[in-house]
Amino acid sequence: MTECIFCKIAKKEIPAETVFENDELVAFKDRNPLAPVHILIIPKRHIASINDLMMADAGLAGQMILAAKNIAKDLSISEKGYKLLFRVGEWGGQEVPHIHLHLIGGARLYEDIYPL
Ligand code: 5GP
Ligand code: ZN
Repeated sequence: MTECIFCKIAKKEIPAETVFENDELVAFKDRNPLAPVHILIIPKRHIASINDLMMADAGLAGQMILAAKNIAKDLSISEKGYKLLFRVGEWGGQEVPHIHLHLIGGARLYEDIYPL
């Protein structure tokens, strides 16, 4: 999957503003933020979408959610709240076919200006 843009970010072949990284995951700022805080959390291993997750990936999926929680705390948006979003496939609006969890916050996301 050398063509995959998020694999390239994971391998640091293209730059991204990383906010968190460990052996399994990397989290970076979305290049087109939909809100004041918009982070993408990805596994370093290529998985195309939620549709491709296996039971053996349960720990990895859990790690992604816990990383989102920790990053939200680091960025001081935990208390007010935020959204976590997985888009899946064409009708779900998924544009990048490498699984990613959106962490979106820093504003009242239920108001009209943030129809997420
Ligand atoms: P999707 O629609 O697939 O759920 O979301 C893909 C997200 O990835 C979009 O919000 C888009 O702005 C972001 N994105 C796509 N390519 C890049 C990139 O090369 N760098 C960064 N930082 N974000 C990207
Ligand atoms: Zn990939």
